[in-house]
Amino acid sequence: MRRLVILTGAGISAESGIPTFRDPGGVWEKYDLEQVATPEGFRRNPDLVHEFYNARRRDLLRVEPNAAHLALAELERSWPGEFLLVTQNVDDLHERAGSRRVIHIHGELLKVRCEVCGRVFRETGKIFTRTPCPFCGKPGGLRPHVVWFGETPFHLEEVYEALIRCELFVAIGTSGTVYPAAGFVEVARRAGAHCVELNLKPAENAHLFHEHRYGPATRVVPEWVREVLEESLSGSGKAL
Ligand code: NAD
Repeated sequence: MRRLVILTGAGISAESGIPTFRDPGGVWEKYDLEQVATPEGFRRNPDLVHEFYNARRRDLLRVEPNAAHLALAELERSWPGEFLLVTQNVDDLHERAGSRRVIHIHGELLKVRCEVCGRVFRETGKIFTRTPCPFCGKPGGLRPHVVWFGETPFHLEEVYEALIRCELFVAIGTSGTVYPAAGFVEVARRAGAHCVELNLKPAENAHLFHEHRYGPATRVVPEWVREVLEESLSGSGKAL
């Protein structure tokens, strides 16, 4: 099995110190989703939304990739076939760990988009409602380059193309509740892929996977990566 698609969710970054979405104590418990993660919320109160994402950007710059991110980067470097990493995360910890082929279907926290001229650019600092776009100079058009509830995720065509061809599908640290990502396992299954769940606890869609390993990502992911690499290098391909 040489065509591999990996899907990651908030759980892989939890041990780096980025709170997950639904787990107790998560950042989202403290904020009203409708206010900070929907287009309607942004129209109603852009100052609050910018304040929220300015704080998320600041927090992201203070954390580091963990052993699970590093293991996936090593897997990509050593994998003998096609490799695609699809993430629901808006953080850049996969890239900082060394991953190269990464698709962010929910956008990227360290990018900003101008709704006037359409430019997307890297931003690590603060932006405000009246901050002018550095490209077109117009104020009032900047927004976080993330996908809010009710918006269409990015790059889905490329993801589905990989899913319908894949032989091994692995979901890591995702609750299986946010669509369309929660449906990727069904597409991979229909394509005949072996589907593996690596998670802290069973996801909502756990019954759709053939194999499960539960525990913190920093333990479970490096263990699994070691096994698949050993098997792929020994040529047995048993668990692949
Ligand atoms: P989720 O919060 O709904 O689920 C988190 C999953 O991770 C759960 O299954 C949980 O059991 C698991 N988990 C928690 N700690 C873990 C650990 N240490 N090791 C392994 N697994 C662990 O997250 P989701 O499924 O990714 O969907 C939520 C949405 O929230 C996505 O749209 C994503 O864009 C967004 N989000 C992103 C980030 C980020 O970029 N790091 C953080 C929070 C939320």
